[in-house]
Amino acid sequence: MSQQNPVFIPGPTNVPDRLRRVMDMQTLDHRAPDFADTFQPVLAGVKRILKASSAQVMLFPASGTGGWEAAITNTLSPGDKVLAARYGMFSHRWIDLCQHHGLDVQVIDVEWGEGAPVEQYAEALQADSNHEIKAVLACHNETATGVVSDIAGLRNALDDTGHPALLFIDGVSSIASMDFRFDEWGVDIAITGSQKGFMLYTGMAIVAVSEKALQAMESARLPRCFLDFRDMLNANAQGSFPYTPPLQLIFGLSESIKMLEEEGLENVFARHHRLAEGVRQAAQAWGLPLCAKRPELYSDSVTAIHVPDGFDATALINHAYAAYGVSYGVGLGEVAGKVFRIGHLGSLTDVMALTGISTIEMAMHELGYPIQLGAGTAAAQAYYSKTRGELRAMAA
Ligand SMILES: *Cc1c(COP(=O)(O)O)cnc(C)c1O
Repeated sequence: MSQQNPVFIPGPTNVPDRLRRVMDMQTLDHRAPDFADTFQPVLAGVKRILKASSAQVMLFPASGTGGWEAAITNTLSPGDKVLAARYGMFSHRWIDLCQHHGLDVQVIDVEWGEGAPVEQYAEALQADSNHEIKAVLACHNETATGVVSDIAGLRNALDDTGHPALLFIDGVSSIASMDFRFDEWGVDIAITGSQKGFMLYTGMAIVAVSEKALQAMESARLPRCFLDFRDMLNANAQGSFPYTPPLQLIFGLSESIKMLEEEGLENVFARHHRLAEGVRQAAQAWGLPLCAKRPELYSDSVTAIHVPDGFDATALINHAYAAYGVSYGVGLGEVAGKVFRIGHLGSLTDVMALTGISTIEMAMHELGYPIQLGAGTAAAQAYYSKTRGELRAMAA
């Protein structure tokens, strides 16, 4: 029965029935002449969600990590310098991937719980008067710490210093849950995966690419084949794919975009903010600090919560899983054992959020945490009840 429970991991996220039904389909021929009728409007829909009217969108059979790899291999050459900050496990992994590809990564290390340090990026760009830095990388929403970063600020840092570097943004755990403005922020490549805000099964990297990034492709010499933008764009222009596309996911994405737009994109963002705020109210009532250092860094898609000294966060989520069949995010890397994470993105209602809050609260109580049973749930109930009018009824 526990398979009926929602997950509170920050991806893969809960797949709503409506999307499961759409993805449960007979095989179709992706070489049929009408395949493009399905797939072209999906690309246009992705652009609307990312506010990326200027971009080319590509869909690769991969996960978000494949999107990272596509971004760098299509635009950069061995030894190229890139600038990136490390403030959690996902920003770390992208840096690691760049290093595996022989890029020269200038890393800005900041304390986990902080966001992308705009001023330090600006200083590094200012100091790079020969424009050796070819790309600036940042994770919009660091899923390991529950921290959102100021991408508009990074754009300003590039503009203020007149630096021509490309701006690559990991939006894997923000896109379709939190506001993302590809055009306005002057993003050159944005990356997400099917299994987070789009509420689909894992298996598709969604990549949006600017004209400037496509130009960089002309001289980029990192080896690429499966993730080659040119092969994908050429095939897409003919209404096809360079290889077998993840058809079920493409149909799922078409329906997911419909769901997001029926609810209204801004309403989707407001719902995530409200769900997140309920979780934060619960953490406050438990007396447990967030990993994110300041309110402007609070993520609306995932919250990382510190456990008290002497307690092991990994043991806590293992207990919640064993006792109640409910999954939460484990602490990763530097914060392993110190934080647990409540993922609250994608297909989620007040009712679901309350089960997540109350279940982890029971688990903490059972393990002797110094919290009062019910305090966090009551705080979230009070908040959801008070702000209920702000919520537009979620379709299905
Ligand atoms: C989930 C996630 C990824 C990608 O992970 P995959 O498992 O490869 O899909 C990358 N960045 C962030 C911020 C994520 O949350």
